[in-house]
Amino acid sequence: MKENPQISIVIPVYNEEACLGELISRTLSSCRKMARSFEIILIDDGSKDQSAAIIRKAAADNAGEIVGVLLNRNYGQHNAIMAGFSYVRGQWIVTLDADLQNPPEEIPRLVTIAMDYDVVGTIRARRNDSFFRKTSSAIINRAVQKATGVMMHDYGCMLRVYKRHIVEAMLMCNERSTFIPVLANSFARTTTEVEVEHAARTMGESKYSLGKLISLMFDLVTTMTTYPLRLLSIIGGIISATGFGFGILILILRLIYGVEWAVGGVFTLFALVYFFIGAQFIAMGLLGEYIGRIYHDVRARPRYFVQEVTGRKMVEQKSVTSE
Ligand code: UDP
Ligand code: MG
Repeated sequence: MKENPQISIVIPVYNEEACLGELISRTLSSCRKMARSFEIILIDDGSKDQSAAIIRKAAADNAGEIVGVLLNRNYGQHNAIMAGFSYVRGQWIVTLDADLQNPPEEIPRLVTIAMDYDVVGTIRARRNDSFFRKTSSAIINRAVQKATGVMMHDYGCMLRVYKRHIVEAMLMCNERSTFIPVLANSFARTTTEVEVEHAARTMGESKYSLGKLISLMFDLVTTMTTYPLRLLSIIGGIISATGFGFGILILILRLIYGVEWAVGGVFTLFALVYFFIGAQFIAMGLLGEYIGRIYHDVRARPRYFVQEVTGRKMVEQKSVTSE
C-alpha cells in the first residue's frame, strides 16, 4: 500500500467545465514543483454540466495524484469541501476554488508557511470582484470579527491551508450550516494571513446569487456565535427604555401644554409604534434564522451523499454524521 501523501488539495467544483481543464493542469504542475507528495481531491457538487465527466477522466489519467469525489446533487460549496475533507490523507490540507481566481501557483509558498501554523489564511490583494461583492464581503468580515473575536481580514478567500488536526476537528462538528474558515479558526491555536493574488473570474460565472449569498452570511453569523441573540436583547432594552422615556416626556409636555398639543403628538406616536413594530420584526426574523438552523440540525440529515469515488483504490466511505 502506498504511503499517505503529505499534502491534500481540496477543490469544490460546481458547473465549472470552462475552467476545470486549466485548473487541473495548473494545480498539477504547481504541486509537482513541491518537494512533497500530494493528492488533489476534486469534489463534484452535483454539477449539471460536463464537470463530473472531466473529473472522472482526470482521476483516471492521473491515478494516485487526482481523486474525484462525486456528490449526488448540489449541497453548496462548504458542504462539498467537508465531503472532500473526509477523504483527505495528507498532513496539510489546502482548499482552493475551482474558478482560478486564486492562482494554484501560490500553493507551494502557502504550504511552506503552514509548517509553523495551524491555519494559514489569505488576503486577496487587489481583489477583482464586483463592487457589490466587495462591499458585502467587507460588512460580513467586520461582523464576523466582532462576533467571533477571531481576527482575520478576509474570510471569503478560500485559498487556505489547515493542519490535519484542524480538519479532523471540523469533521467532528455536526452542524449543517458551516462556514469553514471561521470554523477552522475556532480550533486553531496559531493562525497567520498571507497576501495572495486575486484574478477576475474569466470563465463561467459566480455560483453565488444574492439569495445564496444572504444565506451564506446568516450561516456564518448564526453558526459560529450566539452573540447576535445577545445583541438583540441589548438593542431591545435600549429601544424600550427610549420608548419609556418618550412616554414620560409626552406626558409631561401634555401636562404643560394641554390637550391641543397632545393631538399634534399623534403622528409622533405613530412613528414610534412603527419603529417598535419594525424592531420586533427584525428580532423575530433573526430568531427565525436560528430556529431554522436548529430544525435542520435536529433532523440531522447527512450533510451530503457521496455517489462515487474515482482514482482511489479501496475507499471505505467515512460517515460524517454522529449516528
Ligand atoms: N461551488 C460549489 N457549490 C456551490 C457553489 C459553488 O462547489 O453550490 C464552488 C465553485 O465551483 C467554486 C467555489 O465553490 O469552486 C466558489 O464559487 P464561486 O467562484 O462561484 O464563488 P465566488 O468566487 O463568487 O465567491
Ligand atoms: Mg470565485
